[in-house]
Amino acid sequence: MNFDPTEEQQRWRDLAREYAQGEIQPRAAQLDREQKFPYDIVAGMARLGFMGLTLPEEYGGSGGDFVAYNLALEEISRADTSVGITMEAHISLGCSPLATYGTQEQKEEFLSRCAAGERLWAFGLTEEEAGTDAGGTRTTAELVSGEWIINGSKKWITNSGTDITAGVTAIARTGTRENGRPELSALILPQETPGYTRGPGYEKTGWRASDQRPLYFEDCRVPEQNLLGERGRGFVQFLETLDAGRVAVASLSVGLAQACLDEALQRAKERRQFGKAIAEFQAIQFKLTDMAMEIELARNTVLKAAWLKDWGRPFGREASMAKVFASETAKRAADQAVQIHGGEGFMETSAVARYWRQVKINEIGEGTSEINRQIIARSLLEESPEAAKTRMAAQ
Ligand SMILES: Cc1cc2nc3c(=O)[nH]c(=O)nc-3n(C[C@H](O)[C@H](O)[C@H](O)COP(=O)(O)OP(=O)(O)OC[C@H]3O[C@@H](n4cnc5c(N)ncnc54)[C@H](O)[C@@H]3O)c2cc1C
Repeated sequence: MNFDPTEEQQRWRDLAREYAQGEIQPRAAQLDREQKFPYDIVAGMARLGFMGLTLPEEYGGSGGDFVAYNLALEEISRADTSVGITMEAHISLGCSPLATYGTQEQKEEFLSRCAAGERLWAFGLTEEEAGTDAGGTRTTAELVSGEWIINGSKKWITNSGTDITAGVTAIARTGTRENGRPELSALILPQETPGYTRGPGYEKTGWRASDQRPLYFEDCRVPEQNLLGERGRGFVQFLETLDAGRVAVASLSVGLAQACLDEALQRAKERRQFGKAIAEFQAIQFKLTDMAMEIELARNTVLKAAWLKDWGRPFGREASMAKVFASETAKRAADQAVQIHGGEGFMETSAVARYWRQVKINEIGEGTSEINRQIIARSLLEESPEAAKTRMAAQ
């Protein structure tokens, strides 16, 4: 086996590390405190090609592979997960469905606005009554005289309300199937669509410099051709989108876990008690060792899932494994990093306190650990992960 990244993958990782450590990491605490969206950082990342890393070059993207994207995302998230999730949600959730399911005209009109990252695109699935059970979508879209009329609302939609957001792809009920289940489809809504409004951002525990909003649709009208992919395939498209998104959130988790280890190592070498550095105590060494081992395993799992995707092989089970293991690794790493810092780790002035607050969302967003464990379990017990997800979607 060859564990070496290609030259191109290394180039993306090194460029990301340099930008992240030079431009993002020094400002992460302030961004978190002020809860301000970092427009200049996102613009800098767009200039370097990160905000369209996997998107097709013909529409303005960087044309990189999925492994390269995950390597870069880990480095960006090691500096700040608010910036990491902004990049991830834009590429994996916002733009990738446009690139994968969009018609030529849709790509020219909508993807080309965003593929370089100068504008952002969002993905709206979650609603008040439709979280894990995304099939519970209440938002409706009715086709009348060549236009979709959309009514309903969404919640917690990342990148939906920044000054540079160009639009959202929203999942809506477009009918009812013979078995009584909703027919769900994906619809493209440009930001300026009349009747489409956004509420204020949320007060969050983490990802505080990223943008999430509730969305409201009141008799929004978009042309019939703003249907993304096939009518009634919205749910399947969403599940496919989330597979890749899960690998990316796992990379984000590995980056955060690595940041915890970076801080813990430094503190363990500097802090002296009983006349020596606390790094000399075996209890502390074992914590550092466990963190390093788990991070190594998580990173390998994530990269294997990413590599499978690049080679066009099934990767659903590996995506769920990577997501669960990496997010829980990051949680343990954040916890131990605070422990190694002692009381200082409880102070908002320390980076690890911020990491400890930020880490929890990784076990929730883009599929909770519970639902990912179910996907893995069902694939072990009875069927392929793809069939398991389709069946869960039909429940
Ligand atoms: C900061 C943030 C950003 C987000 N960004 C986006 C976005 O850009 N776009 C978007 O569409 N959504 C977004 N979300 C929504 C996110 O994907 C959901 O929060 C997530 O899918 C879980 O849904 P829920 O929070 O409603 O939890 P719930 O579905 O209410 O689940 C609550 C608990 O019950 C468990 N549970 C539920 N069903 C089962 C079951 N069948 N078996 C076992 N356990 C179960 C869950 O695992 C969880 O532990 C975002 C959320 C947050 C907080």
